[in-house]
Amino acid sequence: MGKSIQAIRGMHDILPEQSALWLFLESRVMDVLNRYGYREIRTPIAEMTELFRRSIGDVTDIVEKEMYTFDDRNGESLTLRPEGTAGCVRAGIQHGLFHNQVQRLWYRGQMFRHERPQKGRYRQFFQMGAEAFGLEGPDIDLEIIAITRRFWTELGIDGLELQLNTLGTADEREAYRRQLVDYFAAHPDQLDEDSRRRLQSNPLRILDSKNPQMRELIEAAPTLMAHLGAESGAHFEQLCAGLDALGIPYRINPRLVRGLDYYARTVFEWVSDRLGAQGTVCAGGRYDGLVEQLGGRATPAVGFAMGIERLILLLEQIDDATRLAPLDAYLVTVGEAAATVGARLAEELRDALPQFSLLRHCGGGSFKSQFKRADRSGARFALILGEDELARGVIGLKPLRDDADQQEVALEGLVAHLQRVLLPTGAE
Ligand code: ATP
Ligand code: MG
Repeated sequence: MGKSIQAIRGMHDILPEQSALWLFLESRVMDVLNRYGYREIRTPIAEMTELFRRSIGDVTDIVEKEMYTFDDRNGESLTLRPEGTAGCVRAGIQHGLFHNQVQRLWYRGQMFRHERPQKGRYRQFFQMGAEAFGLEGPDIDLEIIAITRRFWTELGIDGLELQLNTLGTADEREAYRRQLVDYFAAHPDQLDEDSRRRLQSNPLRILDSKNPQMRELIEAAPTLMAHLGAESGAHFEQLCAGLDALGIPYRINPRLVRGLDYYARTVFEWVSDRLGAQGTVCAGGRYDGLVEQLGGRATPAVGFAMGIERLILLLEQIDDATRLAPLDAYLVTVGEAAATVGARLAEELRDALPQFSLLRHCGGGSFKSQFKRADRSGARFALILGEDELARGVIGLKPLRDDADQQEVALEGLVAHLQRVLLPTGAE
């Protein structure tokens, strides 16, 4: 036997016992997005490397050191997508989705970043996100944030804090940028290596540093608010007023930044204090310059991306068994004749009761061994069909999750009986 092969470090299997929670999360999120009129877009998992260099930018953690980049067999440089926005924008330009129309899109899928794996930080991770193109007012920023707030209520996640900031426009940031460079340059011995490098290339990014030794210096840095123009100021105030009107609490965090030129005005994050250092579960903002930067016609845009693994970590802390739909029944048959009738019966039940989940035992074996499996399956009931039951035209119904007695039900009335007993009221 050869040596067994392990999954790649930082890339994880989602096993059947975890996948029910994933399905719950994804279906609730999709449901909310569809209810707001967003439509799914699916883009390839790999793109030309140039797309990410031009959209995310050369002086970012992602492009500098996190991308999975390789040459394909034609010598073309490709990259596994590290995030979803670039692909959406590329596809939108390529297919003319932005010409004089508003687009509300959502996406989901694996993303890849070569980071140091730890709790809440992986090399392959899953994101769901949405983007709205073609609207420049704060009303759409508000909608995007309202959608994310609805996720938390639908999922039963509480305790998240909404942090909010505005980055103004690229011009407004220019004056601020100079002030920031002067400030950091005056404290050279307090800067770490990354920050010293970013001082010239991308000083706003220093504010985003995760290095605890930099925290004090960053806390005391000048803020952008003083450099906001009238329009940017009004945009921010209207968004805040909208959040107040919807009863969505927020905290203005002047250190919240995205260090790229195409970002404009609104940025926000939803942060949990229950996930240690990896507390941001959702990050978003306005990126009015990106479509033009990638070769399209200037198109305002705003969106967000959520880290699904981090949300799963939060959901796992909440004990709520109702999310994990168990099997309704496990069908045990003893003897060949019963097995044949059982196979047909199982299909008839699936025809008649679409919401009913039924696992039919396969592979034969004694009653005892089959019953043991029924018990271990987590099903609520065992349906038991032996030679004796078959001869009398009945089937045994044994509750598995409590001590209630086994009942006998006539095969003819089985569908109606199951409908009454098994399916939640109102589901009929
Ligand atoms: P962080 O500051 O945690 O590195 P980021 O700013 O790089 O996050 P974004 O690019 O804004 O993250 O991605 C949006 C969300 O995707 C994050 O808020 C987080 O929930 C999730 N995410 C980002 N990187 C990872 C990762 N390596 N593993 C798991 N989830 C991630
Ligand atoms: Mg990161």
